[in-house]
Amino acid sequence: MNRSELDAKLQELGITNEMVKACKLPFQKEPEDLIDAGIDYYGRKQKLAACANKAWVEMHASAKTDGHDIKIISAFRSIEYQCNLISKKLAQGQTIHEILRTNAIPGHSEHHSGRALDLHSGNGTPLDESFEKEPAFFWLTENAGKFKFYLSYPEKNDYGIIYEPWHWCYRD
Ligand SMILES: [Zn+2]
Repeated sequence: MNRSELDAKLQELGITNEMVKACKLPFQKEPEDLIDAGIDYYGRKQKLAACANKAWVEMHASAKTDGHDIKIISAFRSIEYQCNLISKKLAQGQTIHEILRTNAIPGHSEHHSGRALDLHSGNGTPLDESFEKEPAFFWLTENAGKFKFYLSYPEKNDYGIIYEPWHWCYRD
């Protein structure tokens, strides 16, 4: 999806230029080197940028050695996927303002970069703040930085995004 196609799509979703300008999240380009990142928690195939996948494979193995079975909930998501997700929520009756509290404006999600991972471990609900109480979360807090994965949206972050203890992004 190129820039003008995206702009047209954003208008269609009721996302105005002012809303895009007010968005504190940077624009994220889709990577050219997407590769298979294995099967996620739900049995779906996931993809990551090659650099992030290499780091993820190493981090996953290291966590496993320490007794933590960490699963992917979501990795790469295309800009088009993000548009469709928002369309669906609009069709279900949510307003665009409500939706944008938990979903980034298409083009501005770290998941477009192929470097972001939503992770899960334990018996709790995926993508829930309770993940911060899981031993795997403590492991990630201690160790993810060694693999260049960082928590993007800590509590009270400057991006206006809810606290997401499950969302980790590779930064080299
Ligand atoms: Zn995420």
